[in-house]
Amino acid sequence: MKRLLLAGGGQTHSLVLRDLALRKCAELDVVLITPTLRLPYSGMLPGWMAGHYALDEWLVDLAPLAKAAGARVVLGSVQALDLASKQATSERGEVLQFDVLSIATGATIEVDAIAGAREHAVALRPLDTFIANWQRIVDRAISVREVFRITVVGGGAGGVECALAAAQRARSLQGAVQIQLITGGVPLLPGHGARARYLAIEALRKSGVVLIDAIAAQIDAHGIVLADGSYVSSEATLLVTGAAASEWPRRAGLAVDQRGFIEVNAYLQSTSHAFVFAAGDCVALIDSPRPKSGVYAVRAAAPLALNLLAAIRGQPLSRFKPHRRALYLLSTGSKCAIASWGSWAFCAPGLWRLKNQIDRGYIAKLRNPTNPKTTGAMRTLAVLAFIFIIVPLLVFAAGQFGLLMGRSPAESGLREGKLRPPSRTQNSVSSQAAQWPETEYAVAYATIEPFAFTQDSALAMNRLRDVLANWPGARIVENSPEYLSVQFETRGLRFVDDAEFLLDPAARVIHVRSASRLGRKDFGANRARVEAVRKRADLR
Ligand SMILES: Cc1cc2nc3c(=O)[nH]c(=O)nc-3n(C[C@H](O)[C@H](O)[C@H](O)COP(=O)(O)OP(=O)(O)OC[C@H]3O[C@@H](n4cnc5c(N)ncnc54)[C@H](O)[C@@H]3O)c2cc1C
Repeated sequence: MKRLLLAGGGQTHSLVLRDLALRKCAELDVVLITPTLRLPYSGMLPGWMAGHYALDEWLVDLAPLAKAAGARVVLGSVQALDLASKQATSERGEVLQFDVLSIATGATIEVDAIAGAREHAVALRPLDTFIANWQRIVDRAISVREVFRITVVGGGAGGVECALAAAQRARSLQGAVQIQLITGGVPLLPGHGARARYLAIEALRKSGVVLIDAIAAQIDAHGIVLADGSYVSSEATLLVTGAAASEWPRRAGLAVDQRGFIEVNAYLQSTSHAFVFAAGDCVALIDSPRPKSGVYAVRAAAPLALNLLAAIRGQPLSRFKPHRRALYLLSTGSKCAIASWGSWAFCAPGLWRLKNQIDRGYIAKLRNPTNPKTTGAMRTLAVLAFIFIIVPLLVFAAGQFGLLMGRSPAESGLREGKLRPPSRTQNSVSSQAAQWPETEYAVAYATIEPFAFTQDSALAMNRLRDVLANWPGARIVENSPEYLSVQFETRGLRFVDDAEFLLDPAARVIHVRSASRLGRKDFGANRARVEAVRKRADLR
């Protein structure tokens, strides 16, 4: 009988077990090695932290799942691999032989990357250990009379979700609990678009989370020393820094990437050892690199299960084709969520219900592994199709009919010899924003440099006029030696932005104002276009 060893009982392998349970492979001797029989489902962890779920709603007992798959469970962790003799050794010295090995041991948190973190911070992973730690933090927060600060270190999706969940929980506690988020000195939500980042910052602001845009250098019993030497007091510090790789695959001689993640080809097969397969957060997909996320871990499970069986039976392998982009539903503490897909994102309470349904469906699937019922999934798919296919099509159609063009500004041209004040909301830029004291609120967002020039002023205006005349989607609507008014129409949705340029020959600059007709925010579109025009005109 061929021996299949599954290392790790997380998101990927739980679905592999379900697959094996449905297929009933009698010719296989399957062993699952896992440090714990409880599988905490990460997608619902923030909801539990926030107080929306009880513990038993998001923990899966792996024992019945393994039994249904005909797998024997060994409690422990793989510590070493002997690839020549095809055996794995656990931390207790137990030796497990295999013909085919599947590794889905996830990622770890590099606890020692920040001095003092091991002693004074609580790492989010392993999730199983985090559960008891979070319960202790909540108990301390309740019992302490003074202000109790909980600091999340890490501004990725996990860190943002945890900070928002902690803020939600803090609201239900009696004491003065304050939540802080240390971003690591980089923009929040790396890998997500600007819109998702903006929505996350808004949600954090509304939840009262204090954002600290800095790098944590050291953690002690009372707080965190930042890289610039300043100190942030903290009664409890959560470490939610990025994914790191375990050491043992590299030590065993498996091919790994620079960060230590197991290199696999399109068949989820180790690039160095054909009888080793791996998927989920512990791998580096060499043909199609993807971020470490549950979405890809879950998607890899079915092809992984197929290929494990194919490798054992000597059959051809199937390719894993991960989607280029994945839809993320990030919970925002209260029963609301942000949908993020590429550069596209929006936030709505309905998304929480959708996320809740998907997450509960996943748990139900693992609790009833041999019940292939899909009604819940079909309903979810229908909702997703509506959100991501029908809604964008309607918006596109509205754009084609000119419904998103907005109206020309009621007032145009100059006011008091200057370009008009910037908009009240963050949807315009102007190099004369600061000259309108009554619009002080908008100055920080709107201020932009005028176009400085070195040549003759008429030549500079002519050069700018040429650039604008050839700009895709631009139409010059007013054209005088010292003033230009231009409409920019975007492709597809046909949004219109109005831009004006005013020559100031004495100061040797051309002032610029650019404003969107629709929407309270332009997400930097006007600034980006003005900067692109500046670069192409090259007036210096
Ligand atoms: C708070 C939080 C929220 C998240 N939310 C989302 C989300 O909404 N959407 C999303 O796509 N992703 C999300 N993720 C990411 C997601 O959890 C992971 O991408 C996913 O769990 C990876 O699956 P995996 O099977 O590779 O590893 P895991 O699910 O992490 O499982 C690995 C298992 O292997 C075990 N293990 C470790 N070392 C060994 C060893 N040596 N031997 C044996 N077993 C071992 C571990 O204990 C663990 O049980 C979130 C993560 C966190 C932390």
